[in-house]
Amino acid sequence: MPHPAAVPHDPDPTFGELIAARPHLSMHAMDGLLMEGVPLNAVADEVGTPAWVISAGSIRGRLRALQAALDEAALPARVHYAVKANDHLAVLRLMALGGAGADVVSGGELRRAMLGGIDAGHIVFSGVGKAEWELRLALEAGVGQVNVESAEELAMLSGIAHAMGRMARVALRINPDVDAGTHAKITTGRADNKFGIAYGSAASLYAHAAGLPGIEPVGLALHIGSQILSMAPYRAAYARTADLVRDLRASGQSVRMVDCGGGLGIGYRGEPVASPAAFAGAIRATLGSMELELAVEPGRWLVGSAGLLLASSVLVKSTGDRRFVVLDAAMNDLLRPAMYDAWHGIVPVSAVDAARPVAPCDIVGPVCESGDTFARGRALPPLARNARLAILDAGAYGSVMSSTYNARPLAAEVLVDGDRWSVIRARQPLESLWAGETVPGWFE
Ligand SMILES: *Cc1c(COP(=O)(O)O)cnc(C)c1O
Repeated sequence: MPHPAAVPHDPDPTFGELIAARPHLSMHAMDGLLMEGVPLNAVADEVGTPAWVISAGSIRGRLRALQAALDEAALPARVHYAVKANDHLAVLRLMALGGAGADVVSGGELRRAMLGGIDAGHIVFSGVGKAEWELRLALEAGVGQVNVESAEELAMLSGIAHAMGRMARVALRINPDVDAGTHAKITTGRADNKFGIAYGSAASLYAHAAGLPGIEPVGLALHIGSQILSMAPYRAAYARTADLVRDLRASGQSVRMVDCGGGLGIGYRGEPVASPAAFAGAIRATLGSMELELAVEPGRWLVGSAGLLLASSVLVKSTGDRRFVVLDAAMNDLLRPAMYDAWHGIVPVSAVDAARPVAPCDIVGPVCESGDTFARGRALPPLARNARLAILDAGAYGSVMSSTYNARPLAAEVLVDGDRWSVIRARQPLESLWAGETVPGWFE
């Protein structure tokens, strides 16, 4: 009996199809799976598994493609990389070198983005609950813009900025009340989500902001969700935003900019995805002729497909008629399948394995949770112990969401760039798991 989740709407893509759709990956008869010019077996031999591996070439290429699509649509738009998708300093450095700014959602991300070389003036501070110390840090650093999500936050920011003798450039994040048609845990633009300012109260709050000390309202921001595959929700949300800009201007307010958010999806399972050109087209059709400075804030689209999680099989076991491949990677490393029911392509690293006949199996981690399952009923060849697998499209919301649950150290991270590769984060030593802990002295 197949598990319900294993009943495919369309057949799963084959290993060959998964690799062909990712230009930075290729299968070599002798060396096995390559990322750019680097055999993943060489990486695993040296750093072990589980290990995150990310392609610098892919990230550079995606950033350039997005910028080119915006340029071709003649949109004066900056790309602000959403740091939360992957906040590694090397990734941030690639973004800085490629001319991107950043969208950050915490004081820690702000410090990271600046350490990565992104100019504070090109950093936007977003988030539904910025603490006082974070707002102070942002103003001290001179961030380009704070996206304010509530009247309460606006009052708080005004007080802090005024006391510091600073002006905060503010965009109001509106909730356009559109359904992005994505997973419930990553939709953010519906009226019943916690995000943003209700559409109906945005105009009065904007006027109020203009009169507050320390606050300069410069525009509007929105972000309707993540892994969005169709343009319809974007168009609807941007059209509502354009209406609001017109209303605000008609009432005498100055609106210089709109921050169009992120959320552009990627093709985890070969599903049809929206192109950056279509995204730029949706912005152009709705906001393009309004004399606005624009910004986009993609995270996943820039880095998601660039990364993978390299894992080895610990053992293969059969229970009844189900075959389980137990990996050395787990939900504490890559949480997306457990958290979002996410589908990730899983490909053998060995060309010999990849060419053998396949049969359905469940691919799981060793953590003591049934949710620690990467895939159900997935077609895989018979695998020996220590056979290596690559879990694809793990570059976004991968390592950043890792935990040390079950006292499992954070996996190593590796960056590939052409024929070169480098460990960009060492595997966490076991001892560091408890290094900050103390047992109260009076226990003795
Ligand atoms: C998460 C987030 C993004 C990026 O979302 P992606 O789906 O990774 O593109 C952009 N803007 C804001 C405000 C966010 O919270």
